Amino acid sequence: MAHQAHAIPWGVLSSNFKFTSKSARHGDETNLFPRKNPAQGKELMYFAHGFAQAVESMSRTERENYPSSYDVTGSNDLLIDDVTESKIRNTVRRYRMAITRGKQRGYCPSPCPVTYMHGCTCPLSPVDRSILPWKLEDNLNQCVEYPSPHHDSTELFKTLLLHGQIDALLRIAAQPSASIEIIWAPVCCRGQIGWGELMRSTLMSYICLNVSFLKPETYDATARAAYLREEHRNPPTKPEDLDYRKAEGYERMLKRCTARAAYGVHLYPHQEFFGVGPDGSVDQNWRDSNPTMPVLETHNLHEYMPLRSDIPVVTRYLQQKGLPLELAPEVLDHAEYIPRRRLPIADDPLHPENSEELRKYLKYCWKLLVWCNVVAEGTGKKINWVYEITQCILDLWGVDELKRRTIHYYVIDREYLQLPRVDGYSFI
Ligand SMILES: [Zn+2]
Ligand SMILES: [Zn+2]
Repeated sequence: MAHQAHAIPWGVLSSNFKFTSKSARHGDETNLFPRKNPAQGKELMYFAHGFAQAVESMSRTERENYPSSYDVTGSNDLLIDDVTESKIRNTVRRYRMAITRGKQRGYCPSPCPVTYMHGCTCPLSPVDRSILPWKLEDNLNQCVEYPSPHHDSTELFKTLLLHGQIDALLRIAAQPSASIEIIWAPVCCRGQIGWGELMRSTLMSYICLNVSFLKPETYDATARAAYLREEHRNPPTKPEDLDYRKAEGYERMLKRCTARAAYGVHLYPHQEFFGVGPDGSVDQNWRDSNPTMPVLETHNLHEYMPLRSDIPVVTRYLQQKGLPLELAPEVLDHAEYIPRRRLPIADDPLHPENSEELRKYLKYCWKLLVWCNVVAEGTGKKINWVYEITQCILDLWGVDELKRRTIHYYVIDREYLQLPRVDGYSFI
């Protein structure tokens, strides 16, 4: 069963697409292609509206878990309290290290702006936990100004989202001097990636995996054999080509969710689920469809990636060597022995033996989408879900047969968070 199957009309979306290997009509591309269905536009919009309603309804329930309003705090007050700080501490250390690490393949990152050292190990300071990082300025046409010493407001914001620290985020959003809508899609020469991309990459993975799941002929041996018996194609599809991982849409999603980016804290959960380390994937635009490496090879170009269940085993080993228990997490952290892989069967998220991890991951993706919506509304803006979903479907399976109408960016209501000067679409 697809995730949230009672609330989201997955069947309507899935039944409008068919997996085709090496489609002659599409330059030998393998992907899910739209079927000839006269009601296509209407049905896809039905899906988009149904999805939007499900997120919004779940957001209302989630919002009830937090105070209905927040006080304005003083300039020295902590917006990120000790409990929240302890939950996000390791992720902050990891992304600060990643941003300021010494020479990397292809580029030289700038050192820590506070210690001037490569490999920043600064903890969150009281200033980082105050209102300061959120007093962002958008100098129209130039760069977003990041007022806090580490200039890492976008990464810090995304970290709070990943850890579901919604109370802290709503408190930040409620401050009149905070302007976090600027970092939804920031324009900045440093290359910071906003929380809009956190939402979009999650949405793409969530939709792609749920729809692929409804095509068992692309991952289940029995369903595949049955499908091929009924297929009237000449020459027939080879069994090994009937594989969801060979679809262009899946490859684009994987590239987007596991890309190597200096400001990529929002990709950590996806990299961990798909088992692609921060240095393992190819560094290029995910929209670029030029085949570089077959997807099965982009996986596992790297050293052994610890499973979450490996950590207690190694901790026990360190203890046997005489290391005090409380030091073990620190040692593992320094050795970057952090869980990087969740799937027992690597590189095959839909494998039946991975179903438990898949279920957990999809549940987490759904929570992230709901959290993004709750926080967006906390800033007084809205996420235009219909616009986001139609765009996502086009990113995954967009071909000319998918008839659409452009909605120009200047007619899209300003109350919506969107990419600057990017049009939307409506299926017809
Ligand atoms: Zn630092
Ligand atoms: Zn800049």
